[in-house]
Amino acid sequence: MLQDVDLTPLNTFGLSAKTRFYYPVTREADLVEFLMDQGATQWPIRVLGGGSNVLLTDDFDGVVFHMGIQGMEVADTRQDHVLLRVGAGVEWQELVTHTLAHNWGGLENLSLIPGRVGAAPIQNIGAYGTEFKDVCESVEAIHIQTGQLRVFSAAHCAFGYRDSFFKREGKGKYVITHVALRLRLHPEVNLSYQALRQAVDAAGLVSPTIQEVGALVSEVRRSKLPDPRVIGNAGSFFKNPVLAPYLEAGLREEYPGMPRFLQEDGSIKVPAAWLIEQSGWKGFRKGDAGVHDKQALVLVNHGKAKGGEIVALSQEIQASVKAKFGVNLEPEVNFW
Ligand code: FAD
Ligand code: NAP
Repeated sequence: MLQDVDLTPLNTFGLSAKTRFYYPVTREADLVEFLMDQGATQWPIRVLGGGSNVLLTDDFDGVVFHMGIQGMEVADTRQDHVLLRVGAGVEWQELVTHTLAHNWGGLENLSLIPGRVGAAPIQNIGAYGTEFKDVCESVEAIHIQTGQLRVFSAAHCAFGYRDSFFKREGKGKYVITHVALRLRLHPEVNLSYQALRQAVDAAGLVSPTIQEVGALVSEVRRSKLPDPRVIGNAGSFFKNPVLAPYLEAGLREEYPGMPRFLQEDGSIKVPAAWLIEQSGWKGFRKGDAGVHDKQALVLVNHGKAKGGEIVALSQEIQASVKAKFGVNLEPEVNFW
């Protein structure tokens, strides 16, 4: 275990903060031993993966577990699917590349999402109409207080839109060590999102393979999203608000051009990026904290912004969207 470690290079926002203790986790057995030995209540504990969905607001007086457990193994093969068990420290894109190389379907729309596998269940990562829950068989996690292993079925993870048990009742209580994924041996592509459909059509593909879909998703993402290695960010800062039909109908009357997506349960999702852009924030900059000029949902660190400045900017945005549209924006990023 190391002491007084700088977390600046370990978060994609590039925010400066230190942790009192830093423990790189590469084996589940070591993690359990550590939790048993140390008495888990002695210091507060946080788990870090790729640091692409955290906002560091201050130094941390506790232990950061940096998840590095590796490994990908086929646990079972059935007629139509393969069950792949993956270590929480594997880079998400390494996993996607591995599945595409084997022609196992399910992760292609989730290409190029930064971060590590263990964080995927936390907010049920999603992109282009696919979510982690669509491929999740189970999640293995160590209970921090007791060091006990618990295996959560997908149902027990209570996945929702950018949400799960691990963001609610289980928040801060577990270290995810492995996930098991159910991947299709006879892949079918999901082109339900217009942006992806358009990219497929523009490429002249009539029946694209999962490899082609993965490549197109990567291409679209590269063209739209800021690269954290160039400009600090944590992807979408807020969740897209999902509105009750009566609220959305009122808004639509006033703003007929507002994009909207009907959900299965009758509620309506409105892109937060549109609300923020209409409120005049796209490309805004105050000091080194700003709003990306191509994608208003992404807050950026132009260089030396502090976590507190990003938080203050996010609160100003929330207040102005609330004042203009009456809509509450909920952060997607995890504040530390
Ligand atoms: P971290 O940022 O390290 O951690 C995120 C949270 O999960 C923290 O609260 C942390 O404590 C917890 N955590 C991490 N690992 C574990 C573990 N093993 N056990 C317990 N808790 C853990 N997200 C999407 O859903 N869809 C996208 O399309 C998308 N695109 C993005 C694009 C960019 C450019 C960026 C910067 C981010 C994007 N994100 C997206 C957000 C982010 O990449 C995902 O949420 C990703 O899963 C975070 O992984 P991470 O390993 O970096 O997690
Ligand atoms: P986009 O295609 O411009 O669409 C804007 C928003 O509309 C998206 O956020 C998406 O919601 C929603 N949307 C589009 N088509 C939809 C449909 N058929 N049904 C329901 N909702 C629909 O989005 P983008 O900004 O370029 O991002 C593309 C995809 O990558 C999105 O799925 C987005 O979530 C994901 N992404 C996520 C992050 C992150 O950090 N979380 C960062 C970048 C991109 P959803 O966001 O709910 O999908």
